[in-house]
Amino acid sequence: MKDSNTYSELFNKQKANQFYIGNTTYKERIKKLKKLKDAIEHTNKQAIRDALYQDFKKPQLEVDLTEIYPVIDEIKFVTQNLKHWLKREQVSTPMALFGSSSYIINEPKGVCLIISPWNYPINLTFGPLISAIAGGNTVILKPSEMTPNTSKVMSKIIADLFDENEVALIEGEVETSQELLKLPFNHIFFTGSPAVGKIVMNAASKHLTSVTLELGGKSPTIVDETANIEKAVGKIIYGKFTNTGQTCIAPDYLLIDERIKGDFVKSFKKQITELFSENAEASDSYSRIVNQKHFKRLVDSLEDSKNRNSKVESGGNYNVEDNYIEPTLISVLDEESQLMQEEIFGPILPLKTYKDLNEAVDYINSKEKPLALYIYSKSKKNTDFIIDNTRAGGTCVNHNMLQYLNHNLPFGGSNNSGIGKSHGYFGFLEFTNQRSLLKQHTLGAVDFLKPPYTNLKQKLVD
Ligand code: NAD
Repeated sequence: MKDSNTYSELFNKQKANQFYIGNTTYKERIKKLKKLKDAIEHTNKQAIRDALYQDFKKPQLEVDLTEIYPVIDEIKFVTQNLKHWLKREQVSTPMALFGSSSYIINEPKGVCLIISPWNYPINLTFGPLISAIAGGNTVILKPSEMTPNTSKVMSKIIADLFDENEVALIEGEVETSQELLKLPFNHIFFTGSPAVGKIVMNAASKHLTSVTLELGGKSPTIVDETANIEKAVGKIIYGKFTNTGQTCIAPDYLLIDERIKGDFVKSFKKQITELFSENAEASDSYSRIVNQKHFKRLVDSLEDSKNRNSKVESGGNYNVEDNYIEPTLISVLDEESQLMQEEIFGPILPLKTYKDLNEAVDYINSKEKPLALYIYSKSKKNTDFIIDNTRAGGTCVNHNMLQYLNHNLPFGGSNNSGIGKSHGYFGFLEFTNQRSLLKQHTLGAVDFLKPPYTNLKQKLVD
């Protein structure tokens, strides 16, 4: 870690530069975003793939689909719309303010801090950076220490494209984050766990810095008695085992109508073998747990459940040498089991059954509001009942995770799963202040507001 003076010097340089950056035109911002796109899509594409393989054996195609593609797509969307977003928007003015015009200006927040996690390091560092650049801000990026190879590539990309008084990337451990959080940023965009989200919000409150908190939690998946079981299983496997379950919006646990559990389990065993063969460890489509700490946390939770009246329906093996955990489906009966208490963030999928939908909905509502809630059902009545009687950051019906990929949808949690939204226009709004502007044209048009309070003025108000 560098000493804290280095960070405040950098902060002050960006602060001094913020009006220059903030006054750039939409064309200039688009030029920067296109350069970033080229650096990710062409110049450094193989380096990104190699780094993620070194960090946790992430398959190359998965890197392309879940790290590179979403960032490139976000840049395309933002560059197509930025001109429109940056236009001063005229809004109507009430009669009482006759003689005035009203506008909304999306002005930059100023100097911003982006702290990102390790699980999709490219996507979750550059994603918010795109919104910050679109908004006309200067930015300090602090990626996770847990994917150091990817951080090195990102650091090179940023240093090649930007002067540090505009965008700088700082590599470092938790202490680096803590030092940065002492500075009076104008906005902090944090992606990570709810526990650290609270630390970030607490630090931000010292300067009344606004925050976007993209957090996690336990995302439930309901499969009702009307669902197409084969299709539901295939999609849930995709959602749960992409990135080895180390995804904030992966299905965390299943709530299945007890009448279809047998068929679900049978289909799961068949499809998991088709996708990853009998031995997923040998499959080149399956990554590893990021490090020993997280591997141990997951194995402890699995063993805890095995000791608590659970039944491993599929998988359940692991290899400590390689941070490998087999894709695992486990029926959990004991609510105290660790798997049902904390966000899993790995390839273990607990299953609970329910007798009627009220029970499933009550169970979800007994926990913190999830980041995502998934429903597999052919019944509109059941689907509407679940949506109307639960709360969640986002919901996908008859699939999972796809809600992340539509730029027209806000992405983010609610309360414990997050504050504020990202992606497209919603991400741009987080990095801008909606400044109101009222211009009066006709002198004296609203003079009746000021004393003396005559009878005539009283009549006008009445
Ligand atoms: P984390 O909260 O441990 O770390 C995230 C970042 O915060 C890292 O850069 C880390 O260096 C920093 N950090 C860690 N402890 C800190 C502290 N005490 N003070 C200041 N900074 C600190 O999260 P993680 O393990 O990297 O990622 C997993 C979590 O992130 C999961 O909960 C997951 O659901 C969530 N997540 C959410 C989203 C989303 O978009 N909502 C996306 C990905 C991950």
